[in-house]
Amino acid sequence: MKIICIGRNYKDHAKEMGQSVPEVPMFFLKPDSSLIAKRNPFFIPNFSNDIHYEVELIYKIKKVGKSINSKFSHKYYNEVGLGIDFTARDLQQKCKEKGHPWEIAKAFDQSALVGEEFLKINHQDNINFSLEKNGQLVQKSNSNNMIFSIDEIISYISKFMTLKIGDLIFTGTPSGVGPVTIGDTLEGFINEERIFRLNIK
Ligand code: ZN
Repeated sequence: MKIICIGRNYKDHAKEMGQSVPEVPMFFLKPDSSLIAKRNPFFIPNFSNDIHYEVELIYKIKKVGKSINSKFSHKYYNEVGLGIDFTARDLQQKCKEKGHPWEIAKAFDQSALVGEEFLKINHQDNINFSLEKNGQLVQKSNSNNMIFSIDEIISYISKFMTLKIGDLIFTGTPSGVGPVTIGDTLEGFINEERIFRLNIK
Protein backbone atom coordinates (compact mmCIF):
# COMPACT_ATOMS: atom_id res chain seq x y z
CA MET A 1 0.00 0.00 0.00
CA LYS A 2 1.25 3.45 -0.81
CA ILE A 3 0.16 6.91 0.26
CA ILE A 4 0.29 9.56 -2.44
CA CYS A 5 -0.07 13.20 -1.43
CA ILE A 6 -0.85 16.15 -3.66
CA GLY A 7 0.88 19.44 -2.90
CA ARG A 8 -0.58 22.92 -3.47
CA ASN A 9 -4.01 21.82 -4.66
CA TYR A 10 -6.01 24.75 -3.21
CA LYS A 11 -5.40 28.33 -4.39
CA ASP A 12 -5.90 29.83 -0.92
CA HIS A 13 -3.22 27.52 0.56
CA ALA A 14 -0.71 28.19 -2.27
CA LYS A 15 -1.28 31.88 -1.55
CA GLU A 16 -0.74 31.60 2.21
CA MET A 17 2.54 29.76 1.47
CA GLY A 18 3.56 32.49 -0.99
CA GLN A 19 3.67 30.05 -3.90
CA SER A 20 2.35 29.87 -7.41
CA VAL A 21 -0.34 27.45 -8.55
CA PRO A 22 1.14 24.40 -10.32
CA GLU A 23 0.36 23.57 -13.96
CA VAL A 24 0.15 19.83 -13.35
CA PRO A 25 -0.55 18.03 -10.07
CA MET A 26 2.50 17.91 -7.81
CA PHE A 27 2.77 14.75 -5.76
CA PHE A 28 4.98 13.00 -3.22
CA LEU A 29 4.79 9.77 -1.22
CA LYS A 30 4.56 8.75 2.39
CA PRO A 31 5.54 5.17 3.36
CA ASP A 32 3.13 2.89 5.25
CA SER A 33 5.35 3.41 8.32
CA SER A 34 4.08 7.00 8.45
CA LEU A 35 0.57 5.88 9.49
CA ILE A 36 -0.60 6.68 13.02
CA ALA A 37 -1.84 3.48 14.64
CA LYS A 38 -5.53 3.31 15.53
CA ARG A 39 -6.55 5.34 18.59
CA ASN A 40 -2.95 6.50 19.19
CA PRO A 41 -2.16 10.16 19.85
CA PHE A 42 0.37 12.10 17.76
CA PHE A 43 3.67 12.54 19.60
CA ILE A 44 5.58 15.64 18.55
CA PRO A 45 8.95 14.41 17.24
CA ASN A 46 12.15 15.87 18.67
CA PHE A 47 13.67 16.78 15.27
CA SER A 48 11.28 19.64 14.52
CA ASN A 49 10.16 22.80 16.29
CA ASP A 50 7.37 23.56 13.86
CA ILE A 51 5.02 20.65 13.12
CA HIS A 52 1.97 21.76 11.15
CA TYR A 53 -1.40 20.08 10.61
CA GLU A 54 -2.87 19.95 7.07
CA VAL A 55 -6.38 18.51 6.86
CA GLU A 56 -7.04 16.66 3.58
CA LEU A 57 -9.70 14.58 1.86
CA ILE A 58 -8.41 11.06 1.21
CA TYR A 59 -9.60 8.85 -1.65
CA LYS A 60 -9.16 5.10 -1.43
CA ILE A 61 -8.29 3.20 -4.62
CA LYS A 62 -10.47 0.13 -5.17
CA LYS A 63 -9.12 -1.25 -8.45
CA VAL A 64 -5.69 -1.71 -10.04
CA GLY A 65 -5.02 0.81 -12.79
CA LYS A 66 -2.31 2.24 -15.02
CA SER A 67 -2.49 5.15 -17.52
CA ILE A 68 -6.12 5.87 -16.61
CA ASN A 69 -8.04 8.29 -18.80
CA SER A 70 -9.66 10.88 -16.50
CA LYS A 71 -13.07 10.00 -18.01
CA PHE A 72 -12.73 6.60 -16.32
CA SER A 73 -11.05 7.68 -13.08
CA HIS A 74 -14.36 7.44 -11.17
CA LYS A 75 -14.31 3.66 -11.63
CA TYR A 76 -11.26 3.48 -9.38
CA TYR A 77 -12.76 4.88 -6.17
CA ASN A 78 -16.06 5.12 -4.34
CA GLU A 79 -15.03 6.11 -0.82
CA VAL A 80 -13.66 9.25 0.73
CA GLY A 81 -12.07 9.76 4.12
CA LEU A 82 -10.29 12.51 5.98
CA GLY A 83 -6.88 12.80 7.56
CA ILE A 84 -3.90 14.94 8.41
CA ASP A 85 -0.70 15.36 6.42
CA PHE A 86 1.64 16.31 9.29
CA THR A 87 4.52 18.45 8.04
CA ALA A 88 7.76 19.52 9.72
CA ARG A 89 7.55 23.03 8.28
CA ASP A 90 11.04 24.05 9.46
CA LEU A 91 12.69 21.03 7.80
CA GLN A 92 10.54 21.42 4.70
CA GLN A 93 11.67 25.03 4.33
CA LYS A 94 15.34 23.98 4.46
CA CYS A 95 14.75 21.22 1.90
CA LYS A 96 12.99 23.66 -0.43
CA GLU A 97 15.81 26.21 -0.14
CA LYS A 98 18.39 23.57 -1.05
CA GLY A 99 16.22 21.96 -3.71
CA HIS A 100 16.42 18.68 -1.79
CA PRO A 101 13.76 15.98 -1.57
CA TRP A 102 11.56 16.62 1.47
CA GLU A 103 10.90 13.14 2.91
CA ILE A 104 12.37 14.13 6.29
CA ALA A 105 9.67 16.81 6.50
CA LYS A 106 6.73 14.81 5.13
CA ALA A 107 7.31 11.06 5.39
CA PHE A 108 8.45 10.58 8.99
CA ASP A 109 6.81 8.11 11.41
CA GLN A 110 3.22 9.11 12.30
CA SER A 111 3.13 11.91 9.71
CA ALA A 112 -0.10 10.45 8.24
CA LEU A 113 -3.37 10.35 10.11
CA VAL A 114 -6.12 8.47 8.27
CA GLY A 115 -9.52 8.72 9.97
CA GLU A 116 -11.00 5.25 10.50
CA GLU A 117 -14.27 5.97 8.75
CA PHE A 118 -14.62 6.21 4.95
CA LEU A 119 -17.88 7.39 3.38
CA LYS A 120 -19.42 6.03 0.19
CA ILE A 121 -19.60 8.71 -2.51
CA ASN A 122 -20.65 9.26 -6.08
CA HIS A 123 -17.97 10.88 -8.16
CA GLN A 124 -19.83 14.14 -8.74
CA ASP A 125 -20.46 14.69 -5.02
CA ASN A 126 -19.39 17.97 -3.42
CA ILE A 127 -17.74 17.19 -0.15
CA ASN A 128 -17.51 19.74 2.63
CA PHE A 129 -14.79 19.19 5.18
CA SER A 130 -13.29 21.05 8.09
CA LEU A 131 -10.81 20.88 10.95
CA GLU A 132 -11.19 22.16 14.49
CA LYS A 133 -8.24 22.71 16.81
CA ASN A 134 -9.27 22.74 20.47
CA GLY A 135 -12.87 23.32 19.38
CA GLN A 136 -12.07 26.30 17.11
CA LEU A 137 -12.57 26.09 13.36
CA VAL A 138 -9.15 26.42 11.64
CA GLN A 139 -9.63 24.93 8.16
CA LYS A 140 -12.76 24.58 6.02
CA SER A 141 -13.27 23.89 2.34
CA ASN A 142 -15.06 21.85 -0.30
CA SER A 143 -13.77 19.30 -2.81
CA ASN A 144 -14.93 21.70 -5.53
CA ASN A 145 -12.14 24.09 -4.58
CA MET A 146 -9.39 21.69 -5.60
CA ILE A 147 -7.25 22.97 -8.46
CA PHE A 148 -7.01 19.42 -9.82
CA SER A 149 -10.03 17.17 -9.27
CA ILE A 150 -9.59 13.63 -7.99
CA ASP A 151 -10.30 12.39 -11.53
CA GLU A 152 -7.47 14.49 -12.98
CA ILE A 153 -5.17 13.47 -10.12
CA ILE A 154 -5.79 9.74 -10.66
CA SER A 155 -5.18 10.11 -14.38
CA TYR A 156 -1.94 12.02 -13.84
CA ILE A 157 -0.45 9.80 -11.12
CA SER A 158 -1.28 6.62 -13.04
CA LYS A 159 0.87 7.75 -15.97
CA PHE A 160 3.87 7.23 -13.74
CA MET A 161 2.78 4.72 -11.10
CA THR A 162 0.40 1.78 -11.09
CA LEU A 163 -2.40 2.39 -8.63
CA LYS A 164 -3.26 -0.59 -6.47
CA ILE A 165 -6.20 -1.59 -4.32
CA GLY A 166 -5.99 0.15 -0.95
CA ASP A 167 -3.66 2.95 -2.07
CA LEU A 168 -4.60 6.26 -0.47
CA ILE A 169 -4.54 9.65 -2.17
CA PHE A 170 -4.30 12.73 0.06
CA THR A 171 -5.67 15.53 -2.12
CA GLY A 172 -4.03 18.63 -0.64
CA THR A 173 -4.96 21.11 2.04
CA PRO A 174 -6.87 24.40 1.98
CA SER A 175 -5.68 27.54 3.81
CA GLY A 176 -5.50 27.73 7.59
CA VAL A 177 -2.58 25.37 8.23
CA GLY A 178 -0.76 25.97 11.48
CA PRO A 179 1.38 24.51 14.25
CA VAL A 180 0.42 21.94 16.87
CA THR A 181 1.58 21.94 20.47
CA ILE A 182 1.36 19.42 23.29
CA GLY A 183 -2.17 19.24 24.68
CA ASP A 184 -3.93 20.23 21.44
CA THR A 185 -6.86 18.22 20.09
CA LEU A 186 -7.63 18.03 16.37
CA GLU A 187 -11.08 17.02 15.13
CA GLY A 188 -11.91 16.49 11.46
CA PHE A 189 -15.37 16.61 9.89
CA ILE A 190 -16.92 15.67 6.55
CA ASN A 191 -20.34 17.28 6.03
CA GLU A 192 -20.67 17.91 9.81
CA GLU A 193 -19.92 14.27 10.66
CA ARG A 194 -16.88 13.80 12.87
CA ILE A 195 -14.36 11.50 11.18
CA PHE A 196 -11.45 11.70 13.62
CA ARG A 197 -10.35 13.09 16.96
CA LEU A 198 -6.62 13.17 17.67
CA ASN A 199 -4.69 14.28 20.74
CA ILE A 200 -1.25 15.86 20.43
CA LYS A 201 1.28 14.73 23.03
ZN1 ZN B 1 -0.51 18.24 2.38
